[in-house]
Amino acid sequence: MRIQKEAELEQGLVLEEADLALIHQLSRKKLTREEVYAFCVRLCDNEVDRDGERFSAECLGELARLFVGKSGIFDHQWSAAGQTARIYRTELVREEGTLTQAGDGYCYLKGYAYLLRTEKNRDLIAEIEGGIKKEVSVGCAVERAVCSICGADLRSGSCGHVKGQEYEGKLCFAELQGATDAYEWSFVAVPAQRNAGVIKTFDTQREQLEREARLGRKYLAGLKDEVARLGALADPELESGVLKGIADKLEEGELLALRRAYEVRLDKLYPAQTQLNYSGAQQREQKDGAFLI
Ligand SMILES: [Zn+2]
Repeated sequence: MRIQKEAELEQGLVLEEADLALIHQLSRKKLTREEVYAFCVRLCDNEVDRDGERFSAECLGELARLFVGKSGIFDHQWSAAGQTARIYRTELVREEGTLTQAGDGYCYLKGYAYLLRTEKNRDLIAEIEGGIKKEVSVGCAVERAVCSICGADLRSGSCGHVKGQEYEGKLCFAELQGATDAYEWSFVAVPAQRNAGVIKTFDTQREQLEREARLGRKYLAGLKDEVARLGALADPELESGVLKGIADKLEEGELLALRRAYEVRLDKLYPAQTQLNYSGAQQREQKDGAFLI
């Protein structure tokens, strides 16, 4: 079960020798204190959140191990340039005297992350330092969401208890247990008017859509080149620029039909040579196919 939660960015911190040693393990390159910028992220805690869920303290302990080495990606303006931060250490922090809604001691998982102090990262570090609020979204996978009232798995809905409701004065919530994986975390710009809960699913969906769109454009561009190339072979009278212009205006279905037609024509014109062309086209198709998966 995949879980996505918001986290909180904390201030920058002063690096100790021990921190540098841990960073060194991840960077595989010896870095000096001046080359590294470090900051903290409050990754997740055992308080019941607005989804009526919380991590058990044991689960936070498991996540502490899983989050080490995981990358954080920034807004698109940053991630386009390849800026990433990495968690080099985690710590389960117990706040003495603070109780959760469920009545037990409050604790949270703190992540220590680092960034390289490069020219490219300078503005980004200034933003973090300046306290410009950024939402941090973290994702992980857990095995169970246990009902706080009866102990059944709440996802199956078999017990009939509803998250957020009280039963004889006891709050029903889902306790997330058995962490199995931790994913990349991301900084997302805070929209001016954000509805609670929207940001969590929106972000991953948007990334997925953008990735698919990128792959689609790449595939289509390859197909257009291929059609223009085959067209020039099949009809040497036509200028390649004209063919390219035509191909650019066509949709995928039309391009595939045209490619097929050119291949048939080339087969008739140059039986021996076309086999080579044809196999070339096949290979390209397979390559693009692999991108699309
Ligand atoms: Zn129940």
